[in-house]
Amino acid sequence: MNLTNKVNKKKTIHVALVGNPNVGKSVIFNYLTNSYVDVSNYPGTTIDVSRGLIKLSEKEQANISYNFELVDTPGIYSVSNLCEEETAARDFILTADIIVNVLSAVSLNRDLFLCKQLADMGKPMIAVLNQFDEVRKRNLDIDTVSLSEYLGLEILEASAIKKQGLAELKEIVINFADNAKIRPGKISKAIDNYSAPYQELVLDRATALLIAEADADLAKKNDILLPQEASSRRKEIYDIRNQEVEELVSEYVTELNLTWTDHLGDWILNPVIGSVIATVIVYSFLFLFLGSFVAGTIVDFLEQSVFKAYYEPFVRNIVSFVFPIEASTMSNLVFTKPLTAIGTLLAGDYGILTLTITYLYALLMPLVLGFYFGLALLEDSGYLPRLAVLTDGVLSSLGMNGRAVIPLILGGGCVTMATVTTRLLSTEKEKLITMALLGLTIPCSAQLGVIQGLLTNIGGFVPWLIWGGTLLTVFIITGYVMNKLVPGDCGHFISDIPPLRLPELNNVFQKTWTRSKIFLDEATPAFFTAAALVASLQITGLLQGIIDFCEPLMHSILLLPKEVTLSFILGMVRRDFGAFGLMDIALSSSQLITVCVVLTLFVPCIATVAVMVKEKNLKTAAAIWLSSWALALGIGAVLARVLLILD
Ligand code: GDP
Repeated sequence: MNLTNKVNKKKTIHVALVGNPNVGKSVIFNYLTNSYVDVSNYPGTTIDVSRGLIKLSEKEQANISYNFELVDTPGIYSVSNLCEEETAARDFILTADIIVNVLSAVSLNRDLFLCKQLADMGKPMIAVLNQFDEVRKRNLDIDTVSLSEYLGLEILEASAIKKQGLAELKEIVINFADNAKIRPGKISKAIDNYSAPYQELVLDRATALLIAEADADLAKKNDILLPQEASSRRKEIYDIRNQEVEELVSEYVTELNLTWTDHLGDWILNPVIGSVIATVIVYSFLFLFLGSFVAGTIVDFLEQSVFKAYYEPFVRNIVSFVFPIEASTMSNLVFTKPLTAIGTLLAGDYGILTLTITYLYALLMPLVLGFYFGLALLEDSGYLPRLAVLTDGVLSSLGMNGRAVIPLILGGGCVTMATVTTRLLSTEKEKLITMALLGLTIPCSAQLGVIQGLLTNIGGFVPWLIWGGTLLTVFIITGYVMNKLVPGDCGHFISDIPPLRLPELNNVFQKTWTRSKIFLDEATPAFFTAAALVASLQITGLLQGIIDFCEPLMHSILLLPKEVTLSFILGMVRRDFGAFGLMDIALSSSQLITVCVVLTLFVPCIATVAVMVKEKNLKTAAAIWLSSWALALGIGAVLARVLLILD
């Protein structure tokens, strides 16, 4: 894609943002290109490469004879070709005119390796010590001047999130031709000894160094045969560089003392204290905040006091004026033939102007906003990566690893979106197990909210414990069995742990809004379609037919009344849609618990199935879909009978 040709005829300078994961590249990218891309705190976010033109003011456009195309490269720890992200980043680095190396000022012991390697490569560059605000908070002292002298590079202190240092960075980059601040770094003598022989062959210091570091791909492209000892040479070069970094850190970074957030960060990782903290956080987030406050108070108010009290009667009045409606209620399910089909379609029980609008704006929107708000707080405070480390051991025994905690938690927002993020996982086995567990056991935010509401109505804690306990048991057993049965490995998990910090509310709000909007944009047409479909079934009398047909099945397997069939039909389209219907059916406590469990366990919604087909294939998606049915009905049947005994 050549963005610049569309804009003008100026020469394009290619600028690559390069750095370890989580150092703030995306925030800097957004600032420089003036466009918002999702900013996240957990490893792997920048897996997709973003590009954009550096935004220039009119004055700058007039004075500067270049366009600058900025690329946000995937987060890497070193330049090599050992995995997909590294190879992509390497190619951008080699072809870039300018490298902007972003480092986290609080993780120099980790980030300086890449910086030193880039300096050794001799590409024109600048180093940005980002997250400098944390340096002050953590009582660190960095001797930037000496560091800059050693590396031979310009070093800029910045705090991207506070927009500090970024205007200066832009100034330096766009005026690169008139200042010496963009320049190649110094190569260490010891390392030069390894790469100099290749430089005579390829004439480019960067390529020569990478070939010396055993990049077989580049060697082949340049018709160079790597010697047998190539990989042991790479190790020697890496050892020299690691040694240098160690010395630089011990010389130029002084740690004054530990703060309470450092201690808290350590406790979160402690298996015992960390598990208690995780339980409290997950309980407060999912059940107190999302279940009680959002689903209970806010949704209740919007639904009962606003939409059902004013909006729906108002719409019904208007619609029935033109198209008479014979409204039936779901609780007694009298689906007689309505007077006009169109009136029923618009404002009947499942009317697209009544139920669908109420559902979207009174129920789904607050829940989705609430979920993504909470998730953004957890991400930006640095808690989520710690939770990944904490859960790594347990998840490994279920065929996944700590990384999977991200899709699993995201699943609590939207299982479809979470299924997309299983791409973050490194092996096919992990992806399959995570996908299956997401589809089977994780309720999405809207469904969770409604289920929470229903369970709270019948006494809260004990029903919740039975519901949650059953899901957890199924989660553990299924994961364990799949781990034994599915061939292949689960990848090794190395996490980057950013410091704990107070989240920036602006960023949290922006993220919440962007994600909720994506979700709602995707969900809205599905709701309208589902409502139209069910309304049509109702108009044609088919709905009653299906419900009657399923009665013996519902009754004999799950000990449930026939009306629940409707929830299953709706739930196949969208899981939460199904749980919604339940609010209007008279059920005993044990029936309600059974139906909540079965609805959570049974098939993922249509959108999730579509993503499964895309990410895996039709066969896998069909296998997950069918086994969800079988498991849900089987477990539901057992649970219904156990609860009956306990009743
Ligand atoms: P990337 O993986 O390198 O693209 O990193 P991101 O841009 O996604 O940022 C990772 C995390 O660091 C996010 O939670 C940001 O809010 C946070 N962050 C970025 N820049 C700064 C900064 O200057 N100071 C602080 N305290 N946090 C920052």
